[in-house]
Amino acid sequence: KAKINGKNRYEIYDARMSEQIREELDLKQSLHHALDNGEFILHYQPQVCGKTFEVIGYEALIRWNHPEFGLLSPYHFIRLAEETGMIIDIGEWVLQEACTQTKQWQMKDQRPGLKIAVNLSAQQFADALLPQKVFKALEDSGINSESLIIEITETMVLQDFDRSIDTLNQLRAEGIKVHLDDFGVGFSSLSYLNRLPVDAIKIDRSFINQINKDTTEVAIVNAIISMAKSLGLQVIAEGVEQQEHITYLKQKGCYEYQGYFFSKPVPAQCVSL
Ligand code: C2E
Ligand code: MG
Ligand code: MG
Ligand code: MG
Repeated sequence: KAKINGKNRYEIYDARMSEQIREELDLKQSLHHALDNGEFILHYQPQVCGKTFEVIGYEALIRWNHPEFGLLSPYHFIRLAEETGMIIDIGEWVLQEACTQTKQWQMKDQRPGLKIAVNLSAQQFADALLPQKVFKALEDSGINSESLIIEITETMVLQDFDRSIDTLNQLRAEGIKVHLDDFGVGFSSLSYLNRLPVDAIKIDRSFINQINKDTTEVAIVNAIISMAKSLGLQVIAEGVEQQEHITYLKQKGCYEYQGYFFSKPVPAQCVSL
């Protein structure tokens, strides 16, 4: 009897699995044509200065306008794009598109200093041609290297630390800024952070949304801010949703914010400077 139950359980499991696999295969198939079909779009979310409340720049966030499933968030396809290697071409498109859009804003709105932050995936960051691709996007679009921010994560860097340092040095030698995204959720180690050539860290939003609750996450926020200061790094808070978050962060000396409090990520035509 136990055997039959066991078998039944497996059958149900198998059925669900195959459905999931089929969905993934469907997505994988359509991912192949998505770039050529122009199905990717970028949304932009402002990064705001806490002292002047001016928009410093925007983070470009990719979405996939799937013909069948509608607008898909990166959570639904970035991993798939990594597994298939398509992230390399997609990432190149993101760089080009984000820089071109930023050039238009800089000229149209006479904001030459407007910045654009672009996320890299692990594979892109490990690509030996990455620096050249980044420089090409700058050249093609005509924006200054100082306008571009590259966002990477701790885990990406730890895969090959020495090589990562070399890549980051190449980018920063040209004036490009590097920000460490989702900070606090990975294996943050002080000694590696001290050796890492980056300009800023972004406190992960899982800590920010705990600020006005009575939790230990607040201690982590405090620690990250003071650590950043001692290392001479700029610190940015992501996932800022409430006035209370700003009040707290300001009091601790963190003056750069990104989050729904200011704006959700929106399409380029909805961005108001
Ligand atoms: P991320 O780089 O940490 O981006 C921030 C994410 O937090 C975005 O989700 C943004 O919409 C969301 N967010 C911002 N403010 C708030 C807030 O106040 N509350 C809440 N609940 N969420 C907020 P999104 O756009 O879904 O992107 C998810 C992740 O996908 C990004 O995290 C990034 O790691 C990745 N991603 C996005 N675009 C690209 C891309 O062009 N290339 C690569 N490789 N990865 C990307
Ligand atoms: Mg990011
Ligand atoms: Mg983040
Ligand atoms: Mg992330």
